[in-house]
Parts: sequence; structure tokens; C-alpha cells
Amino acid sequence: MRFGKIEKNEEIIKFNLELECANCNKKVPGGIKSGKKYFESIEFNEELNEFKKNLCGICRDRKRVQIRN
Ligand SMILES: [Zn+2]
Repeated sequence: MRFGKIEKNEEIIKFNLELECANCNKKVPGGIKSGKKYFESIEFNEELNEFKKNLCGICRDRKRVQIRN
């Protein structure tokens, strides 16, 4: 998954996050890549914190169904 900004010809940082769904605590695979400049920025940490609140695919689908009903 691409995370943040990757500029043309920029060095790419790849890393794995140990993520858990904010709802059911299921482990979510988090293979992430990001540009080197973005990786070292404050925005990166903020976006990462938001990203950790995400739901797994199953909970996300369930939520979508509830909203529709
Ligand atoms: Zn979940």
C-alpha cells in the first residue's frame, strides 16, 4: 500500500506495520511504502496515527451496510 507522497525519482522506504482493526482487533497486514522525505516528516506520524484507527475490510463492509440501512 502506498502511504503519503512519493516524488518522482525519490528513494522509497518500505516497512511493515503491525496493525489491528480498531473494532474487532483482527490483525491487518500493513505492508507500506512511502517516499523518504515524507517518511521523516511530522505529517507522516500524524497520518500514521490516523491510519492505526482504521478498520479491517470486514468491519468496513459491515459499517457500509449499516449506513445504507
Ligand atoms: Zn475488524
